[in-house]
Amino acid sequence: MTRVALIAHDEKKADLIEFAQNHEPQLREYDLIATGTTGKRLMEATDLEIERKESGPLGGDLMIGSEVAQDLLDGIVFLRDPLRAQPHEPDISALLRICDVHDTALATNLASAEFLIEGLAER
Ligand code: PGA
Repeated sequence: MTRVALIAHDEKKADLIEFAQNHEPQLREYDLIATGTTGKRLMEATDLEIERKESGPLGGDLMIGSEVAQDLLDGIVFLRDPLRAQPHEPDISALLRICDVHDTALATNLASAEFLIEGLAER
């Protein structure tokens, strides 16, 4: 099954929730994982089943990165806050890097997230 990770920084969580609500039928076809708080908020706002990892600052990004390293993930939607540095910036950079190493699809804004979700449906 296609496996997709969803992550959003605090300033972007509302955008990701709206995106998930608008694409809920499509997302339901995927095996979903998320960082802790993002996953909690998404499950409160939708009927999606999501496997929650640790919160980002506690290592959630690295846990998702480990799945990328094992080629377990098909894509990631990661809505970052472009205006504020995060305390766990090194972990975020590591996740972006491992996606490039493994050529794993990564969308960091809503426009590319649309393509990612639709594109995976056609695989
Ligand atoms: P969170 O983590 O979903 O637990 O807030 C996201 C992040 O900061 O990478």
